[in-house]
Amino acid sequence: MFRTASLLFRLWKASKIANTVNPLTDKRRTHKGNMENKNHEHYMNIALGLARRAAAEGEVPVGAVIVHDGEVVATGYNRREQGADATAHAEIIAIRSACAALGRWRLEECDLYVTLEPCPMCAGAIVNARLEKVIFGAHDPKSGAMGSVVDLNALPLNHKPQVTAGVLGEESAELLREFFAKLRKKI
Ligand SMILES: [Zn+2]
Repeated sequence: MFRTASLLFRLWKASKIANTVNPLTDKRRTHKGNMENKNHEHYMNIALGLARRAAAEGEVPVGAVIVHDGEVVATGYNRREQGADATAHAEIIAIRSACAALGRWRLEECDLYVTLEPCPMCAGAIVNARLEKVIFGAHDPKSGAMGSVVDLNALPLNHKPQVTAGVLGEESAELLREFFAKLRKKI
């Protein structure tokens, strides 16, 4: 009886090892993950460049990029002050520009990269535009609508974008910290 149990245990252990260590599939998975991260960082770097431009123009530094088939089809950065427009967030500008570029309001198969977690207004626009994926940098504990203050994806809405958080998040947060530190010095 004991011997059977011990044999079964050893078999179970061996099967677990076989399941967890499969160099072929593990390698593929890691490779795919690395490729995805590299792509995410590539587009987030473009969004960060736009956020820097916003800061240079005296705007809170947030930048956004919309990608379709691996190609940047639209960009945007915060222009709330210059436009004297409460809705001129980076994401709204990029969504409008992508709709114009593609000639449609449905942005399926498009991914949005934005340096800061979208606010409720932008998260609403993302759902309305049917964007497939949202990749954001820093979390926004004050008005983030993708997990920080609220999570729009937790609501029973008709569309749920896939969300990836924290891509170059530290760089995005640092840019915001620098901007507000300079602003405080001026005051
Ligand atoms: Zn917003």
